[in-house]
Amino acid sequence: MPIDKIRGQKRTFQGESQAKPLLRALNGEMNSDAKAKNVVDTRSLRVLVSRLQRLGTSEYQSYALNRFLKRYVATPMVLPNYLGNPERKDDPEWQLIWSRNGDRNHPFTELRLVIIAIELAISGHIHALRQCPVCNRWIYGRFEQQKFCSAKCKDVCRRSDPAWQEERRKRAREYYWLHKNKNVR
Ligand SMILES: [Zn+2]
Repeated sequence: MPIDKIRGQKRTFQGESQAKPLLRALNGEMNSDAKAKNVVDTRSLRVLVSRLQRLGTSEYQSYALNRFLKRYVATPMVLPNYLGNPERKDDPEWQLIWSRNGDRNHPFTELRLVIIAIELAISGHIHALRQCPVCNRWIYGRFEQQKFCSAKCKDVCRRSDPAWQEERRKRAREYYWLHKNKNVR
């Protein structure tokens, strides 16, 4: 998905779909292919997200964040949509894309994710990005209460709760005595 378009349809903003490639990167999935090593600096992106999440009315936080962002020195480029996309060979539209300066194998990818993260912060969706407390996987929480990546992790967390374990032991004891007495009779 293009970051922006010089002309063309109005940009629709949907936090969840926009966050998808960013989540893949945060989960380290963009560098997993052997041929695609070091496409993005996962650690930097995680730092960026946590800084954006702490960005409130504090002037200091924005100062620190902007200092961090100085690593992304880039040049705007206009590229035709048909480039590298045979299906769109008749597409007359062009897009603006930021290319990171320096001799890089992947000059566009990480910067595109940085811009996505900033846009999520601006639109108030940045706190939806969170880590599952059980497996540490990054997710897009649709509701404030959504903490876990899956029902499985939610269950793991519930089972590790001492109150739940105590309740289970109590039930096991009751079950034991119930059946023991039955056998005696
Ligand atoms: Zn999980």
